[in-house]
Amino acid sequence: MTHTVAVIKGDGIGNEVIPAAIDVLDALEVEFEYEYGEAGDAVKAETGEALPEETYELAANADATLFGAAGETAADVILPLRDAVDSFVNIRPAKAYPGIEAVRPETDLVFLRENTEGVYSGHEDDLSDDLSTLTRVVTTSGSEKLAEFACEYVEASDDHDGFSVVHKANVMRKTDGRFRDAVLTVAEEHGVETDEVLMDAFATRVCLDPEQFDVIVCPNLAGDVLSDLAAGLVGGLGLLPSANIGDDNALFEPVHGTAPDIAGEGIANPTATILSAVLMLEHLGYSEQADRLETAVETVLAEGPRTGDLGGTADTEEMTAAIIEQL
Ligand code: ATP
Repeated sequence: MTHTVAVIKGDGIGNEVIPAAIDVLDALEVEFEYEYGEAGDAVKAETGEALPEETYELAANADATLFGAAGETAADVILPLRDAVDSFVNIRPAKAYPGIEAVRPETDLVFLRENTEGVYSGHEDDLSDDLSTLTRVVTTSGSEKLAEFACEYVEASDDHDGFSVVHKANVMRKTDGRFRDAVLTVAEEHGVETDEVLMDAFATRVCLDPEQFDVIVCPNLAGDVLSDLAAGLVGGLGLLPSANIGDDNALFEPVHGTAPDIAGEGIANPTATILSAVLMLEHLGYSEQADRLETAVETVLAEGPRTGDLGGTADTEEMTAAIIEQL
């Protein structure tokens, strides 16, 4: 079956790393039909809109979207795009690879972050010159949906036995209490092993000994902050992929932004975007190709050639070509 993939390069190094990922996917000979859309600062300067309606529709109607990065307009692009794919979970693996200098080379974590609720649901108010408030939204149904996904995620994998639920229910008793109770109930129904960790304790423990954790299920803001912390443990932004998963659709993007300091020079590290393509392949059912591609990336990270951010001298094209050669 042919899958339709919306491709949105965006701004800055999005224009370099997305073509690299497409070259690699072409080498895998998967049956994707690509449909290109525009979004970001450049298209806003031209048309007045950072996310033109046709790009939104493209993402909403595709089987999956591969997105690069957007500059100043990032919030105007990525938030509606995540909405277009109706994404309720953000998957962010943080894995250290041999050959890459990392603070904690033993790190191998996957964050499953709730992607629609919490403090990101947009209920902020200025009540006076002195007072602003924020309403934190947590639903049982949203938490259960994340938990169902998390259970199926660990059940489908030979690598994971269970997950840690990270929260702060000792302080946010109603909201994180509801989140924790819903997630633990679903896990119990599935017979999936869990443990509970308070998010502040998690921050310390993961820095000291990341191997005590594996899959981490957490509310929106905690997932945002803690997965960035884990990014610091594994050697930086150029390596980290992410997936936003909805019921019938999904969007895959590198964690890094447009890297304006190196954009246009052809030296961006394509790894984060290529690993995002690995997540897309897994999601669309191409597990064998996903494994082959991840192994090829691992080999090139270990043996070179590597881009400058990883201490090498290769440009984007050379590193991409080496990955294709490994395939
Ligand atoms: P934006 O405003 O789009 O978020 P930024 O510079 O604030 O851009 P990033 O784009 O995430 O944030 O980049 C942060 C730093 O990491 C920059 O110095 C950038 O060059 C570097 N960087 C990010 N991604 C890559 C990559 N793929 N290859 C090489 N360096 C990268």
